[in-house]
Amino acid sequence: MRDDVIYTPAGAGVVTSKAGFRIHPVTGKGDFHSGVDLAANLNDRVYNLLDGVVTRVGWRGALGVAVEVYHPYPNIRTICGHLNAYSVVPGQWVKRGQVIGFAGTTGRSTGVHVHYTIVKEDTKQYVEPMSFLAQVPKYVDALKTARAKATQQNNIKRHNDQSSEDKIPEEDLPIDNGEVKAP
Ligand SMILES: [Zn+2]
Repeated sequence: MRDDVIYTPAGAGVVTSKAGFRIHPVTGKGDFHSGVDLAANLNDRVYNLLDGVVTRVGWRGALGVAVEVYHPYPNIRTICGHLNAYSVVPGQWVKRGQVIGFAGTTGRSTGVHVHYTIVKEDTKQYVEPMSFLAQVPKYVDALKTARAKATQQNNIKRHNDQSSEDKIPEEDLPIDNGEVKAP
């Protein structure tokens, strides 16, 4: 994986459903979508895009099989959902470009896709995933500097000092209705 190229965790970056408030196509009601849905084929590799530590894997309600990674720089978590399988374990350090799972349609999903959510570690606010992806090469570049590495190390230390309990309660993750149309 090149440092200067914008990648998405799976597929070619085709968005089938954006993050944010949307009108549910069936119920017609307002609905919050915490992440972005990316078109993928069954068992497409799902990549980790920034160095970090795996914080949670496995079944996660409506998100199905999910992998959550804490990225100490820039202090955010990423969650990939609806996976068919995962290939990492909690506590494992994962590098940029490493395969963390395989695309599927587990959980509340009507078709194969990867749901991608970004959460700020300090405020627990959601970050718009596509704008985050656009920033990733800058973060990778920054991590070549001593200053960013020091921030990364401080955040790792703080993370390790915290309780091993997952800090994002499941109920805080809005339901993904998975209204996915075949691309
Ligand atoms: Zn989704």
